[in-house]
Amino acid sequence: MVRPPRWAGLSDRGQVRERNEDCWSADADLGLFIVSDGMGGRPAGEVASEVVVAALPTLVAHHFSAEPDLAAPDAPQRLRTVLTELSAEVREGSQDTPRLAGMGATAVAALVSASQATALIAHVGDSRAYLLRERSLHRLTRDHSLAQALIDAGAITDQQAAGHPARGQLTRHMGMAGEVSPDARRVALQPDDRLLLCSDGLTGMLDDAQIQAILNRSSDPQHACRALTEAANDAGGIDNITVLVIAPA
Ligand code: MN
Repeated sequence: MVRPPRWAGLSDRGQVRERNEDCWSADADLGLFIVSDGMGGRPAGEVASEVVVAALPTLVAHHFSAEPDLAAPDAPQRLRTVLTELSAEVREGSQDTPRLAGMGATAVAALVSASQATALIAHVGDSRAYLLRERSLHRLTRDHSLAQALIDAGAITDQQAAGHPARGQLTRHMGMAGEVSPDARRVALQPDDRLLLCSDGLTGMLDDAQIQAILNRSSDPQHACRALTEAANDAGGIDNITVLVIAPA
């Protein structure tokens, strides 16, 4: 039996956007957590992130057993396959329904087992996963974005990326044509580790040092979610803000 981790999630419209196209869900029994940021305008963006979040548990159940061995060598690949199939569902939805043409979304998912002290993390797009360990924040995902490609090429710095025009332009997203190529990794968890899943409405407003400081000030996941969304709103809140904080052990 997977011991349910302590967790909290919160999504906020922000200060500028009329609608919230982000979506999240948590199933502590499955140890399954996801954040998705919809794109493609109204109503496509909202629908895309909802499709991602709603369809995920079924696909995970299809590819993993009820008590999955997250240490199995092929476990990250299985989660990659889940996101690939999920992307195909979003794409089919956008092709079947004219008003949903061009819809897409990001996805960052965590499959967590406290008893195995293991988490699988998979993502597509610029929603991120972070690990807070011994008060230090570590990025677990690398954005699939034009800004990240420019950073990798040495053209801009990490600091310049936040305000860069390329911000928000994704190189991979759920629902894209062709191979979506999700990234997935396994994380061996230590006592008192915390995981953060978030949309770019958080990371566009706060840098990693600010996020780390807030997480270190709020040990309770619910407090942390509130403090993170408040800080992103205080910094301008130009996008929808979604955060999911998990204290697995
Ligand atoms: Mn966003």
